[in-house]
Amino acid sequence: ERTIEQTVQRYQEHVDPGLGFYMQATLGDVVEWEAHGNEVRDMRGQTWYDALSFMGVFGIGHRHPKVVQAVRDQLDRMPMNARYFFNKPQSDLAARLIEIAPQRSVKNVFFSNSGSEAVDVALKCAKFTTGRQEIISTVESYHGVTVGAVAVSGMRHFREGIEPLLPGVRFIPFGDVSALDAITEKTAGIIIEPVHAGLGSKMAPPGYFAALRERCDRTGAIFIDDEVQTGLGRTGKLWGIDHHPGVAPDIICMGKVLSGGVMPLGATLYSERVADAISKRLIFNTSTFGGGEMACAAGLAAVNVIVEEDLAGQAARGGEVLGAELRAVAQRFPNIIKEVRGVGMMWTIEFSDWLASFFVFPQMIREHRILVAPHLNRIDMIRISPALNARHEDLVRVGQALGASLASYRELDASSRE
Ligand code: PMP
Repeated sequence: ERTIEQTVQRYQEHVDPGLGFYMQATLGDVVEWEAHGNEVRDMRGQTWYDALSFMGVFGIGHRHPKVVQAVRDQLDRMPMNARYFFNKPQSDLAARLIEIAPQRSVKNVFFSNSGSEAVDVALKCAKFTTGRQEIISTVESYHGVTVGAVAVSGMRHFREGIEPLLPGVRFIPFGDVSALDAITEKTAGIIIEPVHAGLGSKMAPPGYFAALRERCDRTGAIFIDDEVQTGLGRTGKLWGIDHHPGVAPDIICMGKVLSGGVMPLGATLYSERVADAISKRLIFNTSTFGGGEMACAAGLAAVNVIVEEDLAGQAARGGEVLGAELRAVAQRFPNIIKEVRGVGMMWTIEFSDWLASFFVFPQMIREHRILVAPHLNRIDMIRISPALNARHEDLVRVGQALGASLASYRELDASSRE
């Protein structure tokens, strides 16, 4: 039996700090907990409403019964084979993803264990298909932890001190049509999210992605659509790129909610053009664990839940409620909140001053029992991304908790000035 103190101490001493600061600032002593649906419970019986879904991973709630059952069934038969035989869950999931892919743009799927791997594979495919070196990405983006994914992540913080990474990577502002001139005959590909998470749930203006597609067609560059966060309903449409009708990507990167938050699973979906190019190699991609039976069984169950229950539609309707709540709160605190923006179940509250957000998010967690978090590397922005099928009364509660936490901050701020 370990005590809470021992666990916290061991964590601090031995585990890579990563997001450790977050635990410190919020639930400093919760070391054992369980999650069910949209609720998280610790061993003392305290509960929290999960309004973050860990950036979308738990988009269909925690431990969805259909996903858990699919994993259990697969565990009892064959959790993961060693590539001796064909893999049924993998082929079923690939077929399902191809069926629902935007504009029916996908020919093949490569499965891996994470969004980062999905991104690395996409970069390799773009380079090999075009025979070119240059990759374009966007300022303030985050695409993952691996060397390739870090190299194309616009958040400088993650690249500094480990460069040179990949040669020929350039960053352009997101949503600016004139910056798309950077895509030339030398460009292998552009990697971009349809709704930019790093900038805080930012949408591109209408016409931007059509112009991007057009520029890629003209130059032969590959359009890599990073749907790790936005994919499968998060933005109120099945795909983030569906906000730009008629635009088909060449490669789509997936992760997070793909397995229903139960198994690690990433996927790179690619077009016929890419498939033709890489088929010239006997083996282009392989992964020991990627696409294991259990992970793909989870994926198939999760994707079926999302499509059959129209969770994208539910996220769109919930987003109207949540957006209205958050905006109403923002109006009451114009000096503290700079902007509220978002779509579907992907929302960001940008503060004028990070001190306020650093007070507000732990307050929402500790006092109001609502799990939220600051954005990666942006403490002045709080992320709200509940499950796709969040109940509207829970969304209203999120708004109320935000309002109450802001009121506490204002009181504290006023008294500290006296
Ligand atoms: N792309 C995007 C847009 C992401 O948000 C993330 C993870 N936050 C990744 C890629 C990397 O995914 P993973 O952490 O599963 O490797």
